[in-house]
Amino acid sequence: MKYVKVCVVLLAILIFIAGALLSPRPYTETEYSMDTLMTVTAYGKNAKTAVKDVFSRIRELDKKLDLRNPESQVARLNQAPADTPVYLDEDVFYVIKTALLFSEKCGGAFDITLYPVSNLWGFGTDKAVVPEAEDIRNALLKTGSQNLVLDEEKQAITKKHSDAWIDLGGVAKGYAADEAIRILKEAGITSAYLDLGGNIGIIGEKPLSLRETIENGKASRPYTVGIQKPGAPRGELIDTVSLSEGFVVTSGDYERFFEEEGILYHHILNPETGFPADTGLKSVTIVSKSGILADMLSTTIFVQGKESADRYLNDCDTILLVDDHFDLTYIE
Ligand code: AMP
Ligand code: MG
Repeated sequence: MKYVKVCVVLLAILIFIAGALLSPRPYTETEYSMDTLMTVTAYGKNAKTAVKDVFSRIRELDKKLDLRNPESQVARLNQAPADTPVYLDEDVFYVIKTALLFSEKCGGAFDITLYPVSNLWGFGTDKAVVPEAEDIRNALLKTGSQNLVLDEEKQAITKKHSDAWIDLGGVAKGYAADEAIRILKEAGITSAYLDLGGNIGIIGEKPLSLRETIENGKASRPYTVGIQKPGAPRGELIDTVSLSEGFVVTSGDYERFFEEEGILYHHILNPETGFPADTGLKSVTIVSKSGILADMLSTTIFVQGKESADRYLNDCDTILLVDDHFDLTYIE
């Protein structure tokens, strides 16, 4: 009898060890880049190398696209005088060109040339203030995509006046997410989850542990993406979205903001007024097969409001809106 008991215990230990060895282990890294916290998790044989490759690519992109880094190509373009072509590499030219094309398509609500205005507001700095109306009016005169002339062949951009400054804050993380997913897929990764400061990218399904597999009768399940409840403590969710391929990107009034005299001023600006967009929305979430498009779309629909959403359904799978009353609307 004692012998049988020992055998049962040994068998249980063996099953446990086999389970631990058989269920694929995740490899996760977190890094601060592009002004935000980024986490990448991948499963499988090449996971560690692939995740490291993703972060070196993100660091490389940040170095090129960050307007606050005086060495970046974007800073070089911003500081360039008028009528002087600035030669850019493939990444920077692609992101700017894609953003300008999109801007034209959406009628200017998405505008990478808003920096003269957003700089006055100073969101995310300790100098955040409500600017004087006259300063905003003057800054708006310096904005507009028409001030940038693209030369496709030479991969160069010429500014029509020296004050034209660009800010890729509404699109860079989306491109980085596209690149991250591409790198992981090229490394043969079939299951991964990445969160680049609210830009979520997903490959495949999340592998389950042996115990979960036995309980559920399947070895994996779609990833679950939490949608932050605007204004609530980080991690308090208003809903979740399940998916096994693609991107989930949210723009919200809670990301970067300050309050003055009881009014919340947030970082997503209406290019027509130079003031924070105010269309009764607190957040916009986009589910799409393209990271860069999802990033631009979430910002744009936040600026244009609920009524605009239908017109972008061809460009994404789902649009999830949270309004001022915390009511949820799914458009698909
Ligand atoms: P997101 O969090 O992706 O919605 O992007 C917000 C960031 O994009 C801001 O921090 C600004 O850098 C920039 N931004 C603000 N308003 C706009 C706009 N109307 N169009 C494009 N970029 C914007
Ligand atoms: Mg965006």
